[in-house]
Amino acid sequence: MHEQEIPPQGISASLGSGLNFIDGEWIPAATGELREIKCPADQQLVGIVSESSEIDARAAISSAVRNWPSWAKTSPAERSALLNRVADKLEERRAEIALAEALDTGKRHVEAEYDVDDVVKCFRYFADLAGTSTGRVVETDMSHIDSQVVYEPVGVCVLITPWNYPLLQAAWKVAPALAAGCSFVLKPSELTPHTSIILMQILETVELPSGVGNLLLGSGSDVGNALTSDPRVDMVSFTGGLETGKKVMASAAGTVKKVALELGGKNPNVVFADCDYEAALDNALTAIFLHSGQVCSAGSRLIIEKSIKDKFVTELVERAKNIRMGGPFDPEAQTGALISQSHLDKVAAYVNMGVAEGAVIRCGGSVIEDIDLRNGFFFPPTILDNCDAGMQCVQDESFGPVLTVETFDSEQEAIEIANNTIYGLAGAVWTQDAGRAQRVAHSLRHGTIWINDFHPYLPQAEWGGFKQSGVGRELGPTGFHEYLETKHIYRNTEPAPSQWF
Ligand code: NAD
Repeated sequence: MHEQEIPPQGISASLGSGLNFIDGEWIPAATGELREIKCPADQQLVGIVSESSEIDARAAISSAVRNWPSWAKTSPAERSALLNRVADKLEERRAEIALAEALDTGKRHVEAEYDVDDVVKCFRYFADLAGTSTGRVVETDMSHIDSQVVYEPVGVCVLITPWNYPLLQAAWKVAPALAAGCSFVLKPSELTPHTSIILMQILETVELPSGVGNLLLGSGSDVGNALTSDPRVDMVSFTGGLETGKKVMASAAGTVKKVALELGGKNPNVVFADCDYEAALDNALTAIFLHSGQVCSAGSRLIIEKSIKDKFVTELVERAKNIRMGGPFDPEAQTGALISQSHLDKVAAYVNMGVAEGAVIRCGGSVIEDIDLRNGFFFPPTILDNCDAGMQCVQDESFGPVLTVETFDSEQEAIEIANNTIYGLAGAVWTQDAGRAQRVAHSLRHGTIWINDFHPYLPQAEWGGFKQSGVGRELGPTGFHEYLETKHIYRNTEPAPSQWF
């Protein structure tokens, strides 16, 4: 296990701070309040960090407001170079970052290492994009009119992130915000602050001008409203749960801020009888049980053609029973802990709700007694059979390792079932019929569709949700343009009286 790898006073002590970073200074919360961060796999102390209040939120916004104008005037080349230096430093500190991420989240250390690699790719991608917002000349049939459309940074951004991919979600916002010339206040999840602290250290090392990037640690219920309602903030980019997203949108509405929301998903994994059977079976497991289902795009709804359902689900159950859970440094572990006791309770309640609605537990379903896992929040891979789209357990996001199984007879029925959700984040279709794959992909109302795959994403391609999975997009050119305002400049080269009045 990892006891020896944690410094005695926790990770934040070894980092030299569990502090807010405001106006280029590492400072404690105004009230002096602190929060203990514990590893979800064994509840060992990982670090002690500041717990901010509205006073700190206002100070962080003031800093971002003060320091934005000079940053907005930097050249795209300068911003691009800075983002590449961030990527270099992330690579240098990969091991340390992965350790912090694994301890904060309880995820496997190897997964945390892959996450750092994705973060590096994200910074390099937006470094490339920084100089691409050049605008355009508008053609008109009037020789005395010069018309051009230009793009300018949105301004002061509040960036709020969740606990499941803490640094990656921060990177998806911080990199395009800086590339566009925005200043920001980053508020990571109160449960997983350490990699955001490291990111700010890196921004300091690569000499991002003081106060352009600010870090506010603490609970969203304490500082969220102060951040999202402040009239000095131009944009809020939020990733998290649907109910919190609605609060953010309502709070930002008071000053009509630009809002980008990346919310939950209830993602269909549609399997036809003519699929590549072994690939579909294996990926159905990864789709839902990766990171114990704590993935926004988790394939939590298996929607399978009736003719292969019994065999497919029986084999899925056998493999799910053998998935090994364990702590971040257990070399045998295939998946890790849930983030907290309250989240585990929510997942267990969700399973009970499914059973009450008529679902049948085929594996998992309740916490197992295992001496090695007794201090962590482990919930076993669970498969609920005999489900249909009318059940609440099929409609609500559990955000845990729980798969519901529904069946269909025809392509049209599969599409209708897969679209029967308030969410629209991601989904997959498994078939060897290329025509059917395209038809289904184009009929599903979800922001990402995989054909014969599940989970991969590309920084170059947009990510985000239809319906109540969100507003706006991250990644890709659209994810960059979220941080830009569009301005039309119309110049009359032969000014004359309009003679209207
Ligand atoms: P959450 O909504 O509880 O918290 C997210 C963030 O919002 C945290 O930083 C939290 O402190 C903050 N917050 C809480 N109350 C707030 C308020 N009133 N105002 C402003 N901020 C507030 O979500 P979570 O439990 O951390 O994350 C899990 C959720 O995130 C799941 O629903 C998952 O699907 C979603 N998610 C979505 C994506 C995506 O790309 N669409 C990616 C990752 C996670």
